[in-house]
Amino acid sequence: MKIICIGRNYANHALELGNPVPSEPVIFLKPQSSILSHKHPFYIPEWTNEVHHEVELVVKIDRVGKTISEEHAPRYYSEIGLGLDLTARDVQMRLKANGHPWERAKAFDGSAVVGEFISLGDLGRDVQDLRFTLSNRDNVLQEGCTQNMLFSVNQLIAEVSRFMTLKVGDLLFTGTPAGVAPVKSGDRLVGTLEGRDLFAVDIK
Ligand code: ZN
Repeated sequence: MKIICIGRNYANHALELGNPVPSEPVIFLKPQSSILSHKHPFYIPEWTNEVHHEVELVVKIDRVGKTISEEHAPRYYSEIGLGLDLTARDVQMRLKANGHPWERAKAFDGSAVVGEFISLGDLGRDVQDLRFTLSNRDNVLQEGCTQNMLFSVNQLIAEVSRFMTLKVGDLLFTGTPAGVAPVKSGDRLVGTLEGRDLFAVDIK
């Protein structure tokens, strides 16, 4: 399986990092080894001083497909969740300045926190009308609404599948809203979607 991540999919986050709002989705991958089950703590690696939290809606692909149209995209997923795209921002800034790929900053072990998934049918909501938050012990760090995505889930599936075959079990991280900031040892980060807590990660 693969983890497909979308960068800068909320205008307020692109602007907070001084990046332009993209005219096409920014796409990158994380390997399977980056997955951190939401039942395990995250240990800040020794080679970075600045791991940022990025809470994101995660779509689980449950059907194989390529060159999927936006109209047919809803047939390729039925469950959604929340995840953290943990990012070594200090390393990423250095890589970006040199025009290098982002893997050192984005693809390290534990950098993809994946919480529980819930069925969209059970939730009874449109995927583009979902509210989610990231909190640290009742202190809200990030708040997002999928209405504010620059590219919708279905547009992302159409675009990504022009280049990569989507396989059963692939995960699509759909980008983070504003409010990214460094994690600290002792934090307990909780991701909540429409009132349901889907992950809780202790930072060590
Ligand atoms: Zn991200």
